[in-house]
Amino acid sequence: MTKKGRVFSGARPTGRQHLGNYLGAIRNYVALQADYDCVYCVVDLHALTTMETTRDLKNNTYEMALDWLAAGIDPQESIVFIQSQVRQINELFLIFSMVSPLGKLTDLPTFKEKVRQAPHNVNLGLVGYPVLMAADIALYKADLVPVGIDQAPHIEYTRETVRSFNYRYSTNVLVEPGMKVTEIPKVLGTDGQQKMSKSLNNHIELALTAEETQKVVMTMVTDPQRARRTDPGNPDVCNVFSLHKVFSSPEEVDTINTECRNAGIGCVDCKKLFARNLNAHLAPFREKRSALAEKPDYIWDVLHDGAQRAGTIAEQTMQEVRAAVGLPE
Ligand code: ADP
Repeated sequence: MTKKGRVFSGARPTGRQHLGNYLGAIRNYVALQADYDCVYCVVDLHALTTMETTRDLKNNTYEMALDWLAAGIDPQESIVFIQSQVRQINELFLIFSMVSPLGKLTDLPTFKEKVRQAPHNVNLGLVGYPVLMAADIALYKADLVPVGIDQAPHIEYTRETVRSFNYRYSTNVLVEPGMKVTEIPKVLGTDGQQKMSKSLNNHIELALTAEETQKVVMTMVTDPQRARRTDPGNPDVCNVFSLHKVFSSPEEVDTINTECRNAGIGCVDCKKLFARNLNAHLAPFREKRSALAEKPDYIWDVLHDGAQRAGTIAEQTMQEVRAAVGLPE
């Protein structure tokens, strides 16, 4: 079947994935395979921009790739690889640096946030983060990039970089990508307040056992106004209810919506039901994950094979780029 075009997406190697990664990214990665040629990349070079130690880099890469494959990314259909294993990325990054206005990069909200978070570690690579991302997307000539809304300025930056490059070198070899914003851009953590994130330790790991999942779910913060079981609750402000909408049946969602408001159901039972439905949803993933974890060599083979296939596309693009720039063959 002919596909509609090429998708590229990358994620930093953060190790075992959580519910936020799943709903915000992985689920879409899997769905897009039906219509697009997909290239999914573990962006380890991007990770270096903020990392103080690389001790866990390799293991985090492995665990993330394992989750991706267990969730249904098909390495026959799609290319799954590690960014640093395709060396052409470094070359395109450098060439893109020459068409990257520094003022624009330091103005990006994501850069300003990173500076606030770690003022002692503002390095050239960090300023160049969007340039490296633009190089990733352009190297594989992606038509479409699935992202969270917070990444929208980076995609816009990529489009501008591609336009600047094509204009400066009077060419049309590089492709301006489109953006597909995820339907669930922000899954809240177990605190019910902040975005689910490993660094905030408010996450629910996909690879937990059913029992472990239930334990974490029982710690989730619900409607803070509902102090006693007999108080009526407000599902509109409850993160558990938001997740019921994703993992429970429409009938269950309707019942909880009504029964929470009239104190017919308590938070404990509501969370137990959520844990049960979440565990049922994740059961096939966990089974596949356990099977894959038995053969770590297979995961590395998939990543090496992916790097070879990605490398072929990358070298083709770079030959066109070098010719456009006027670099000798
Ligand atoms: P990065 O954003 O650097 O790739 P993350 O681990 O933060 O690394 O995120 C990986 C993917 O998962 C991204 O597409 C991100 O938007 C998505 N994601 C992470 N946390 C959440 C969350 N709490 N809600 C929705 N999407 C999330």
